[in-house]
Amino acid sequence: MKANIFIYRCRVFILLLTLFVFLYDSNLSADVDRYTMARDEMVQYQIRKRGIKDQNVLRAMSSVPRHEFVRKGLWKNAYEDRPLPIGYGQTISQPYIVAYMTELLGVDQESRVLEVGTGSGYQAAILAGIVKEVYTVEIVAPLYQRSQTLLERLGYKNIQIKNADGYFGWESQAPFDAIIVTCASDFIPPPLIKQLKKGGVMCIPVGPPFKIQHLILVKKEMNGEITTQIMASVRFVPLVRDSQKQ
Ligand code: SAH
Repeated sequence: MKANIFIYRCRVFILLLTLFVFLYDSNLSADVDRYTMARDEMVQYQIRKRGIKDQNVLRAMSSVPRHEFVRKGLWKNAYEDRPLPIGYGQTISQPYIVAYMTELLGVDQESRVLEVGTGSGYQAAILAGIVKEVYTVEIVAPLYQRSQTLLERLGYKNIQIKNADGYFGWESQAPFDAIIVTCASDFIPPPLIKQLKKGGVMCIPVGPPFKIQHLILVKKEMNGEITTQIMASVRFVPLVRDSQKQ
């Protein structure tokens, strides 16, 4: 009799366990589907419709899980048409701006790219799916640590991160085919111009903190001449300086 009750309890337990695993699993795949759908819509309505054509950029924007780069409480907002807070007074840029700046760089699978302002690591992840190597510099130590852990967990092998003042670029890895600055500076930092390859481009927001700034496309011609072109009005968090962190 006792043995029967035991077997009965075991069966009920296994049944409940199976039910739990099934519900947990279907919840997970519902989550995956939800974010894949949100991402597809983001690419279609915010990016493709506004004129981004570079297939590599569209593919990267469709595949990088943007929600992973913000805190859980903001996952539901991750694919909206706006920047989001990432802590420490910083933001992850609006998806369209990320796509637009990436397209302006005109990079491919041979390129080595420097990013100033790692922030959440999202822009670096987008670039990593397109280019050969990404070097990214972040001045805020906890953001640097968080992005490094996240990018490692997501399996990115071609991104190197440094906790330093990106005003100075990344001298030992220079020159770069392209440089992207994701914080606004009053002027274009001379070390960045120096670290740009001949024939290379830099995309940088220039202007006063928290006011309207200009997104500038800087080109270093093959003869070393520098040309600049204003591409858009933007609003980025400021590039801050820390001479201790070179
Ligand atoms: N590209 C980021 C968004 C960056 S927000 C993303 O995809 O999430 C701008 C970032 O620039 C912030 O994280 C800020 O801390 C960083 N920053 C500001 N001044 C800097 C400097 N001098 N060097 C490196 N990073 C800087």
